[in-house]
Order: sequence, then structure tokens, then C-alpha cells
Amino acid sequence: MLEEYERFTDPGTIKELELLAKDLKGVRVLHVNSTKEGGGVAEILHRLVPLMNELGIECHWEVIRGDEEFFRVTKKLHNLLHMPGGKTLEPSDVVTYMRYTFENAAHIDTDPYDIVFVHDPQPLGLIVKKKKGQRWVWRCHIDVSSPEEEAWKFVETFVNSYDATVFHIPEFVREGVKVPTFIIPPSIDPLHEKNVELEEEFVRSVVERFGIDPERPIILQVSRFDRLKDPFGVIEAYRIVRKRIDCQLVLAGSFASDDPEGEEVYSEVLKAKGEDPDIHVLNLPPDSHIEINALQRGADVVVQKSVREGFGLTVSEAMWKGKPVVGSNIGGIRRQIINGVTGYLVNSTEGTAFRIKQLLLDEDLKRRLGRNAKERVRRSFLITRHLKDYLILIHSLLKGL
Ligand code: UDP
Repeated sequence: MLEEYERFTDPGTIKELELLAKDLKGVRVLHVNSTKEGGGVAEILHRLVPLMNELGIECHWEVIRGDEEFFRVTKKLHNLLHMPGGKTLEPSDVVTYMRYTFENAAHIDTDPYDIVFVHDPQPLGLIVKKKKGQRWVWRCHIDVSSPEEEAWKFVETFVNSYDATVFHIPEFVREGVKVPTFIIPPSIDPLHEKNVELEEEFVRSVVERFGIDPERPIILQVSRFDRLKDPFGVIEAYRIVRKRIDCQLVLAGSFASDDPEGEEVYSEVLKAKGEDPDIHVLNLPPDSHIEINALQRGADVVVQKSVREGFGLTVSEAMWKGKPVVGSNIGGIRRQIINGVTGYLVNSTEGTAFRIKQLLLDEDLKRRLGRNAKERVRRSFLITRHLKDYLILIHSLLKGL
């Protein structure tokens, strides 16, 4: 499987991975997160885990369990760590969090592993299980640089009990993280169903199946139904564009099993759509990879208007398909889009509408930025680069930090 990546990467990349993994044969690695499906973390683990195994690392993946109450608390915690505001953690929330942490600690066997990667705040408390000789790493996928103070205080003790932390970009690191920090941006997999090449005819048939007109311009945002993805702002921007250009908006999304707010946001988005037949709100099953792929390929402009964003894998996914992305000038989106070269970074709804219009009216510009976007992803955001970063991290963990 690894050699199949050779056609996307620079010469020598696969050899380099094999060399890096040579001394790591038989090292036992566990990844723990909170959902098997939905969201970027699961997306990456689905591919990274088998590739690590192929390189000789004994790599497993476990998912913590929890009921609605637990995920309500972790979602609250997630939002509070992402940004201040909103309801603070109640003592009863802390009790719920700890109760499930201990329940998960009881059923997830972390003992046989040399290295345990714990993803995001939901399973963070599992560090209570750390055994002597093991290395535990907290892989944080969100921006915790300016959290709500009380929420941060709650997680801080856990975080500093790890051997190391990993963040997507340096700006996301919170002061007060006292353990070594590594910077590893996420990646996309060009061989995933979500990203493989598709026949134009197939793309067209998927677009039509959803009732979208392939002959008129399509603006697309792919995102879980979550306020932080600002679907309402996207609708507003589309309405501004629509005054000038006869176009369509597609909001494709789903609910993640660890996000209790999804349904509520979905129905609000439907309300915001109103009677407009050119706004398509698609609530897709979580395994609709080929459909998302086709929608991204069928779109003229892809938008990612998030208010906060860990990384925004959807940005790289669209860029890989040669699409110029108009994305918020925040977090990981800023890392992916080079303004004016591979897409546009925007700071407002009006700005979003302006850039969408510019791209829809200038076919050459659209094509040029799209071409650059693809090359940017090829160089910096493919899974082979990610794998290399993990191998280097494992080397340094085992050699002592
Ligand atoms: N995704 C999907 N179906 C959807 C919405 C999102 O398959 O209805 C995928 C999307 O293609 C991407 C991931 O879920 O691979 C979302 O990752 P991102 O980093 O953009 O956002 P997150 O959901 O992790 O905040």
C-alpha cells in the first residue's frame, strides 16, 4: 500500500519512511479518541493506523465510550477550551467527566503499549492509567491558546502529566503547557475514497442525484452541523453573491456521534435556507466519502467560513481537487491557504462574498489558484508527510525527550 503513494510524493519519500521505521519494528502504539466516525481526527486515524502497521509498528486504535450526558460535557469543555464565553463547567460536569474517565480507564487496556497517543480533551483523563516506562502524548487538535480560564485549569493538571503534547500549529499552544511540545499539522490521504480521482461523468451524476444543477455555478461548504463552522454566515455570503450571479449553495454535513448539538444546528440551518430552492442542505451519512469527493470536485468555489478551526481538513481536501478555497483567516485555515496564491483568506461575510464573486467571474483566476492549491497540498499536507512526523516523534519519545 505504501508504494502506491509514490506517484504523489517526491522521489525517495517512501524509502525515507522505511528507513525511519526500521528501528521501530515491534514498538507498540495505541491511539485513543472519542469517535470512530465523523470529524477530522477519525478520518486521519482510519488511514494512519494501517500505514503505521505496514511499517512494522504494532499500532492499535481504541475509542472511549460515553452516553449523551458525557458527550454534552465534553462538547462544553471542547467549546470552552476553544474560546472563552458560554456556560462554565459545573461541579456536576466535572463529576460526569471523571466518572466516564474511570469507566473508560477500566475497559481500555493501555498497559501493553510503549506509547499512547490520546487525541483531544474527551479522553484526556485516561492519563491516570500511565504506567512506568510508557510514553503518553496528548495530541490536541484544537486551538487552546485562549481558553476559558476555569476550563483550562481543569485540564491543565492532566495535560502536564503527559510526556509530551502535539499541536497543529505553534499559535495553538497554551502558555502553561510545561511538557515538551511538538508541532505536527494534519494531512489528507490521496488514496482515500474521499480524495481519489473521479470520472467527470460520475461527479455529474452525484451532483444531479442531490438535485443540484451542474450547469450553474456551485458554492460548497462541507462541515459538520456546528455553529463554529458558521453555516449561517455562508448562507448570508451566498445571498450577497446571488444578487449578482445565478449560483447555488451546497451545505453538506453530518452529525458526529460525539456532538449532541448537531441536530439542533441542522434544523436551524434548514430554517435559514427558507424557501430558496438553490440552497441545498445535505445531511449525509458519515460514510458518504465518495459523495463528498464528488461534491468537492463538482464545486466551482469551496468555502470554509469557520469561526474557530482546529485545522479544517476540508480545506486541504478541496485544494487537492484543484479548487480555490475561500476560508476564514483563522487557525489552521491560515496555514493551508496562501492568500491570493492558493485561494483567499477572508475576515467577514462581505469579504467572503467578494472573493467568491471574483472567482466565479474569472475562470483563469479560478484555474490558476486551483492549480497552486493542489501543489501546496501535495508538498505539505499529504499523509506521507504526517507519517514521517509521527515516526520522528516516536524516535524522540523512545530516546528520551
Ligand atoms: N466530513 C464528512 N462528511 C460530512 C462533514 C465532514 O465526511 O458531512 C469530513 C470532511 O470531509 C473532513 C472531516 O469530516 O474529512 C472534517 O474535518 P475538519 O478538520 O474539516 O473538521 P472537524 O469536523 O474535525 O472540526
